Amino acid sequence: MDLRIQDRTAIVCGASRGLGMACALALANEGVHVTLVARRAEALQMAAERIAEATGTQPGFVVADVGTAQGRAAVQASNADPDILVTNAGGPPAKDFTDLTREDWEQALDANFLSAVEMIRMFAPAMRARRFGRVVNITSATVRMPVERLDLSTSTRLALTGYVAGVARQIAKDGVTINNLLPGTVMTERLVELGATADALIARVPAGRAGKPEEFGAACAFLCSEQAAFITGQNLLVDGGLCTLTI
Ligand code: NAD
Repeated sequence: MDLRIQDRTAIVCGASRGLGMACALALANEGVHVTLVARRAEALQMAAERIAEATGTQPGFVVADVGTAQGRAAVQASNADPDILVTNAGGPPAKDFTDLTREDWEQALDANFLSAVEMIRMFAPAMRARRFGRVVNITSATVRMPVERLDLSTSTRLALTGYVAGVARQIAKDGVTINNLLPGTVMTERLVELGATADALIARVPAGRAGKPEEFGAACAFLCSEQAAFITGQNLLVDGGLCTLTI
């Protein structure tokens, strides 16, 4: 299927590896001009080279921490007018709920809630004026099925889920969609680093395997397509059937 987004522009956050990079690669494969965002120049340079080799396009990149106002300003300065925005940042640490401090909450809210909220606030007005925009937020399957010790992740991503439920509908008539993609057990570097725990996680997936980053990227590219114009305010699980409970 031709997704009809050739020559659109995209900002993809947390894109030096993992799911963010997979989304950037899938969009570049569709002829989208992508700008990668992450905190380290060297990793970004390597990701840009990999995408360039695979697609024949040349991604730009911005070194920025999207959890800070300064980082988001750097993103805005690089490309003030993207058609497509993919928000993403690393997940907060796993901790027992009795050990969580105000500082832990502030860091998680900055990285996994306010980063997306503020970037939507930054870029949605121009998308609405142009009557085309696609926002995809990478959240987590934990918003549907909370996991022990991941309360920082579950809570901050649920805050974003609520924000999107409201805002997506306020701008739906302007040709701008906002959707959340919920990964569960997709084989990224992070999952590889978990080693033995990853095997235990994979054993619980009804599909009998971990997801491939390119499967996640394909779902993202579709939500950014012209054809997905009537899909907004949704939460799409990419988890091999893992989540059976809903909250
Ligand atoms: P990852 O750690 O492999 O990649 C995260 C990327 O974001 C890296 O490029 C990193 O450099 C970048 N990044 C982190 N914090 C940043 C910040 N503040 N500003 C800019 N860039 C930042 O993780 P992943 O597996 O690709 O997962 C992406 C997101 O999805 C994470 O929030 C993770 O918790 C969540 N998630 C993933 C899975 C999965 O199955 N992989 C499951 C549930 C939730």
